[in-house]
Amino acid sequence: MTRVLVTGGAGYIGSHTALALLRAGHDVLSFDNYANSSPEALRRVTVLAGRSPEIVEGDIRDRAALDAVFFRFRPDAVIHFAGLKAVGESVERPLAYYRTNVTGTQEVLETMQTHDCRQIVFSSSATVYGEARYLPFDEDHPLAPTSPYGRTKLFVEDIIRDWVHARRGTSAVMLRYFNPVGADMSGQIGEDPNGIPNNLLPYLARVAAGRLERLGIFGNDYDTRDGTGERDFIHVSDLADAHLAALDFAAHQIGATAINVGTGQGATVLEMLHAFETAAGRQIAYQFLPRRPGDVARSLAAVDRAARLLNWRATRDVADMCVSTWNWQSRNPDGYGT
Ligand code: NAD
Ligand code: UDP
Repeated sequence: MTRVLVTGGAGYIGSHTALALLRAGHDVLSFDNYANSSPEALRRVTVLAGRSPEIVEGDIRDRAALDAVFFRFRPDAVIHFAGLKAVGESVERPLAYYRTNVTGTQEVLETMQTHDCRQIVFSSSATVYGEARYLPFDEDHPLAPTSPYGRTKLFVEDIIRDWVHARRGTSAVMLRYFNPVGADMSGQIGEDPNGIPNNLLPYLARVAAGRLERLGIFGNDYDTRDGTGERDFIHVSDLADAHLAALDFAAHQIGATAINVGTGQGATVLEMLHAFETAAGRQIAYQFLPRRPGDVARSLAAVDRAARLLNWRATRDVADMCVSTWNWQSRNPDGYGT
């Protein structure tokens, strides 16, 4: 059993990971300012797990608040999800992204150092790779992110690497997520974006529910099976399990390691749409639109490092992703506001 401080624990991936940690018997403290989430997610996690995480409302940019939490909870490890994640918004508000994602992480690392906490699992992203020179992306692919958001992830990876090299006995796993989707099978927790969703699965779910008219598909002239973009979608419950495996790895290993988290299998936008139609038992209207600026044709993970180092592999497929998203959407038409 480990004492795990989870920053951003009320968020989409954080809440699923908190649930997996509690179920595995770990003690969890969620530290979140609810900038993009609701405390209701943690209430539901408590019901599903049959026990509660400690819950603290606080901001990672607030050193005193972090310090108080470390002093009291004495974590063995940190899983660091808290941050801003909208690529488009990061182009409009780069300084907010650097402050929260980069400076905020520095505050977390400095607090870890003060309290001699030596293990961190960090939420990185496949966006650090940028345009593919070859596929699938392995962890040695050149890093050239194309947005301020992606650069914050790259900078933080470098900061963590430097810190781990300088501090004897520390370890870090930087998980590069591909496209996290889906929801816990209970339908009680899931992704609850504000306003009109930017991402494919939440958008499909709203169209299927009749809350949006049709999906706009960004581009049908890519060099893919059917001309629409191809992504490596990964079920959020598989992703949560990858964090448990990463925590275990960090406890037994020193050094900083970047590891992809995907399935190694791609699905196109049209393939996801058809899988969602099957899951929801209804047709989904769509139209083709021009390409979305900044999108790449294909993104696919090489998954052998995760298998070798973490002994972890994704077990859920595209049908599981769509069925669980639909289950969450239909039970919670207004997300946590229901
Ligand atoms: P999310 O927005 O649902 O979760 C992030 C959480 O951090 C939210 O609960 C938010 O309230 C909290 N937060 C934001 N700023 C904070 C601050 N200053 N102090 C304390 N808490 C703060 O996002 P998510 O999808 O769960 O993503 C979690 C992490 O994974 C993020 O770092 C994100 O960049 C990364 N990631 C996400 C994806 C994805 O597609 N969802 C892909 C790759 C990487
Ligand atoms: N996409 C789309 N319509 C939408 C949202 C997304 O066609 O309303 C496409 C997008 O162009 C990409 C894929 O779906 O090819 C996945 O996009 P998403 O925003 O979910 O994730 P990204 O890969 O951009 O991180």
